[in-house]
Amino acid sequence: MQKIFLFLLLPVIGFSQSASVLKVRAYRQSNEHELISDYRQFLGIPNVASDIDNIQRNATWIMNHMRAKGITQVQLLNGITPNKPPAVYGEVVVPGAKETIVFYAHYDGQPVDSSKWQTGLHPFRPQLVNGSVDMGAQIIEWPSKNQSYNPEWRIYGRGTSDDKAGVYTIINAYAALRALNIQPTVNIKFFFEGEEEAGSTHLHEIFEQHKKLLEGDVWVICDGPVHQSGTKQVVFGVRGDTHLELTVFGPKRPLHSGHYGNWVPNPAMELSRLLASMKNDKGEVTIKGFYDDVIPLSEAEKKALSSVPSVEEQLKKELGIRKPERTESLNETLNLPSLNINGIQSAGVGKQSANVIPTKAIASIDLRLVAGNDWERQQQKVIDHINSMGFFVTYSEPTDQERATHDRICMVKKSDGYNAQKTPMDNVMAQRIVKAVASALSSRLIEMPTLGGSLPLFIFEQKLKTQPVTIPIANHDNNQHAENENIRIQNLWDGLEIFVSVMLLHK
Ligand SMILES: [Zn+2]
Repeated sequence: MQKIFLFLLLPVIGFSQSASVLKVRAYRQSNEHELISDYRQFLGIPNVASDIDNIQRNATWIMNHMRAKGITQVQLLNGITPNKPPAVYGEVVVPGAKETIVFYAHYDGQPVDSSKWQTGLHPFRPQLVNGSVDMGAQIIEWPSKNQSYNPEWRIYGRGTSDDKAGVYTIINAYAALRALNIQPTVNIKFFFEGEEEAGSTHLHEIFEQHKKLLEGDVWVICDGPVHQSGTKQVVFGVRGDTHLELTVFGPKRPLHSGHYGNWVPNPAMELSRLLASMKNDKGEVTIKGFYDDVIPLSEAEKKALSSVPSVEEQLKKELGIRKPERTESLNETLNLPSLNINGIQSAGVGKQSANVIPTKAIASIDLRLVAGNDWERQQQKVIDHINSMGFFVTYSEPTDQERATHDRICMVKKSDGYNAQKTPMDNVMAQRIVKAVASALSSRLIEMPTLGGSLPLFIFEQKLKTQPVTIPIANHDNNQHAENENIRIQNLWDGLEIFVSVMLLHK
């Protein structure tokens, strides 16, 4: 009953699937084994951005795959800093086409800790599972040629979802059209980044150097998950992101907690107090001016948000959480800047626990940003707060002199960051893409003002003067960035059809 009610409320766009999409589906169905076997090969190449040898192997694999599928001008784009992950570029020029769509995805992935992956799973040895391991599914054999793939099965491995899935489905969407002799209606450019998970620190150099080559009418970004309700979405913006690492110092050497406890201040306690002072029990960041720069949502954005299906009850069950941090809906909170503790470290716990007063305590802080925030200004607000809590802030290990002068010392390491980006919801090109995606799905579609996650789309706007739209294809429970990353096979197939539709964009 409730579902029917929701259905009626949603201002959704439904289009019939085009004949071309149906042809592509049939083509995919008869080529699944080859498609997945190539994908397994690609997933088998480790892809952490700092592992430059393997990053090069990935780039080479992508170039070979693109050339094999008839994509031209395939080349590596480097910035000016040597030995950094290159972007892979290629294009398809369509006679008579007046518009150009640039497709973006990234082939690097987050660092891995193999020991945390479920037994039998490995980040760079892709495995097939008959569902989600978190729900008790089992690793199964890859099917032989005469057996078919169940679309609910999942492939496990780093990058399966984030974001080799994007690279792979974009290339193979074009490959399917070519195999079927269907001409795209637009020129296509391909741009695959190799450093997204490491902060895209050289992307601006690549853009700067290849501005002309990278010109297009719109950039379509494939990254991130579909909506938790399973409904596909087109996303008009992303949050920005930056990090801080805070180290609070205790005694110069670890001390016996019996001989010194109560007298020598404990850095883990000091750090906990400092962190706790940053947020109240209503989930509001209490740092001065933290929300000041936020540009309020437009009427169109508010309207779009109000029609996104509510997934809070489903998520509470799925995640084992009773009460959300704030009272607003999930989507409302994603339109606010956030302050999150990524991890805390001090002396050992469990088997490593010893009766000591540790020498220091470290926390990594993640600041997500929304439109209006400037990442450096947001970092500074946190630093000012640390100061206001009675800490001497330093950017290097404290000297003896500093230890002698200040009661509390916090060393701050700032990382780079980037701002949020938003494309207006009435952007003409974006709305044409929404129509194309809806026609591929023949189903409802969510128009989402912003993704909770971050992508360096701010740089796209700044350097290339383009307003991108994002089309995520991965299942929401893909464990991206963590152990047991996976992609549901049907999400790959849907992705293929979605990108085919975008390549066949109508006026
Ligand atoms: Zn990603």
